[in-house]
Amino acid sequence: MKTALLIKYAEIHLKGLNRPYFERMLVSRIDSALAPHRARIIREQGRIFVMDIPPDHVEDAASRLRRVFGIHSLCIASCVDKDWEQIKDAAFFVLEKAGVQDGKTFKVFARRADKRFFMTSEQLCRELGHEALERFPKLKVDVHNPQIPLTVEIRQDSAFVYAGELSGQGGMPVGCNGKAMLLISGGIDSPVAGHMIAKRGVSLAAVHFFSYPYTSERARDKVEELARIVASYAGEIDLYLVPFTDIQLTIYDRCPSSETTVLMRRLMMKIAERLAKECKAQALITGESIGQVASQTIESLTVTNDAVDMPVFRPLIGFDKEEIIERAKRIGTFETSILPYEDCCTVFVPQHPVTKPKLEKLRESEALVDFEPLIQAAIEKTECKKISQ
Ligand code: ATP
Ligand code: MG
Repeated sequence: MKTALLIKYAEIHLKGLNRPYFERMLVSRIDSALAPHRARIIREQGRIFVMDIPPDHVEDAASRLRRVFGIHSLCIASCVDKDWEQIKDAAFFVLEKAGVQDGKTFKVFARRADKRFFMTSEQLCRELGHEALERFPKLKVDVHNPQIPLTVEIRQDSAFVYAGELSGQGGMPVGCNGKAMLLISGGIDSPVAGHMIAKRGVSLAAVHFFSYPYTSERARDKVEELARIVASYAGEIDLYLVPFTDIQLTIYDRCPSSETTVLMRRLMMKIAERLAKECKAQALITGESIGQVASQTIESLTVTNDAVDMPVFRPLIGFDKEEIIERAKRIGTFETSILPYEDCCTVFVPQHPVTKPKLEKLRESEALVDFEPLIQAAIEKTECKKISQ
């Protein structure tokens, strides 16, 4: 008996001509996620199957697939020939694994993609239910709310038998909706923002600004680790590491102190936009949410937006910190995010930041300095690291 993973995807996005495109993308994302397992992937009538996985690889393969966007759920199935005895044995095996000895309830479900199979779905359910009750006398039938939903799918080449499913991420396969540049700090919010946009099928690049020696090597390592966790969902990420010290010191020296944070944010956005264009990203992503800090009032966000032409996605805009933390825990970034670190935003915080900056005034303050050479120098010294899945 072989083990296979049966993948179900949300069909809501699959109208008409988009469907083959979506499916091909999903297969390609599954293929990358399972690279270490050299799995054989087949696509058949609204399902994707990962075939012939060695038993000791199943758990890791399943946990990788649970991070692939576009997968609604997956089932660990026993795969056999379309032969009644083999199907029965597979069903007994699956029931035993599901803990049938404890007197659990079950119900048989059947789906026939191959209508030539010698039994109808109804016959199959009845016969298999009957055999299971004979074999396991402690088992009980519950047609409304069974603890073990024993399912048989008769496909073109094989039969698949499984009980229950593992939930996936949902969303759409990464790459089917363009590319965006995530501004990633070492905090809680930005990795969550990146995960949310990638979930909609957008592939990611990321940019991090560091202010060595005011921020440490460790802070940079931490950002790389966060990017790696995001990449475990979103696929490979090009992470741009931008030295920001000269720009920050210049702002600090030459511009009004209450405006330093907002000016810094404008310069970050400008550099992020240029790097985005270089790597063909079409939008920027930040982890901002209204009112969280002085630089996230509506006025501050307006001034930040004004620095760039690209759309800026802020998926957390209406979230409370609690809600963001809950998501960070769910996707596995929280523990890393709360490690102590210094961010360049927190190192240079003015004592009295403006909370309602005026756009004209900010543009004037920015014009006090010719930032262009500094921007170019920062981009020239930017290092790009490939963060793999
Ligand atoms: P986070 O938890 O993401 O750090 P935050 O609440 O600390 O968010 P800010 O420090 O004001 O908020 O930053 C707002 C957003 O600006 C971040 O979510 C991130 O997208 C971006 N950002 C902040 N610092 C950096 C940085 N050093 N490099 C890249 N992007 C940054
Ligand atoms: Mg931050």
